[in-house]
Amino acid sequence: MIRATLGCLLLAFSLSAQPVYDILLKGGHVIDPKNRINDVRDVAVADGKIARVAANIPESQARRTVDLKGLYVTPGLIDIHVHLYNRPGFPPPNRNQSVQPDAMAFRTGVTTMVDPGTSGWRDFPDLKKSVIERSQTRVLAMINIVGTGMGIADENDPKEMDPEAAARMAKANPDVVVGFKTAHFSGPGWVAVDNLVKAGNLANLPVMVDFGAASPDRNVKTLLLEKLRPGDIYTHCFSGLRQELLNGKVNPAMIEARKRGVIFDLGHGAGSFFWNVSIPFFEQKFWPDSISTDSHFGSINAGMKDILNVASKVLNLGVPLDQVVQMLTQNPAKEIRRPQLGNLDTGVEADIAVLRLDRGKFGFMDSAGARFDGTQLLACEMTLRKGRVVWDLNARSSDDWKKFDYQRRRAGKKE
Ligand SMILES: [Zn+2]
Repeated sequence: MIRATLGCLLLAFSLSAQPVYDILLKGGHVIDPKNRINDVRDVAVADGKIARVAANIPESQARRTVDLKGLYVTPGLIDIHVHLYNRPGFPPPNRNQSVQPDAMAFRTGVTTMVDPGTSGWRDFPDLKKSVIERSQTRVLAMINIVGTGMGIADENDPKEMDPEAAARMAKANPDVVVGFKTAHFSGPGWVAVDNLVKAGNLANLPVMVDFGAASPDRNVKTLLLEKLRPGDIYTHCFSGLRQELLNGKVNPAMIEARKRGVIFDLGHGAGSFFWNVSIPFFEQKFWPDSISTDSHFGSINAGMKDILNVASKVLNLGVPLDQVVQMLTQNPAKEIRRPQLGNLDTGVEADIAVLRLDRGKFGFMDSAGARFDGTQLLACEMTLRKGRVVWDLNARSSDDWKKFDYQRRRAGKKE
């Protein structure tokens, strides 16, 4: 009896001395806009979830501690405009080719990507099977109102626009479909946008519009003030191709639309971000709600590069870092109606980005190839997805090789 009690006591003692966290991110400057944290904090992760965010969590409580002094810790970034689908046989290897999620995401702090209608209501199941279900990155999608999505001439064919079919596909895949998209429609009229919003109403989801080229019978004012609903997303908002800027001034329709809840997404891409358009917007304090890349082969090796290059541009145009982080986390999460993403709430999946802010002399290229000189550049040091380190630029979470247990590794034992 006495022995049993003693045993229990010993067991209890040893349990309390056991580390309770898998990993402790120590001493970083946490920016978590949703929880209004913008200060030095420790972040503890257990079982793939955020366990605690607080000052001075003891190292003894974690199996592994990573020193992040001087770095920023944010929720995993959300990029709501990344092209992720190459349908069989199309496009041929060219600048319109989509990227692979895991090849782009983690090295830039991104843990969630949204494909903006590269696939449509007809071929979405193939995107799901070939990309969404095979990626470590959390991949969500907007379904194109056109059956075979983007890149094929069908984007202009009203016969291919089917709001009922799009809504059915969305309702059948509520875990991964977050909205609908139209892109590149060149008129005449409003058939693409009208069918898009119809799908949005049928499935109760937001829509995203790439408004294509301007045409006399369709203008941005009608789109933003009459066609789109609160919560709908106008991407490529600084393209300047559709009178977003009027004589150097922000089009009053955009200011009015923002008041009624229309969302403005940056969507840099290969042809939608120019210094001579963006600078007046930022000078007039019209900032994007969300920062997105519009990644594809044509943009990733040109001016756009990646989400941190785009975010650095916004930072250098005068937006404070905490608000830049909000445009990369909380805001896009809200836009796609995934409130569990883009924050460090206790209990959510531990998707985390660790960013370094370098100061110096940096050049930033726009979609035309023009340079803007800046002094701040964001880089990704570490990324965690579901609590697992999936990117670690300086091997901060690794043991020094002299202490490293190579034999244990060879034996295939994991921590
Ligand atoms: Zn795009």
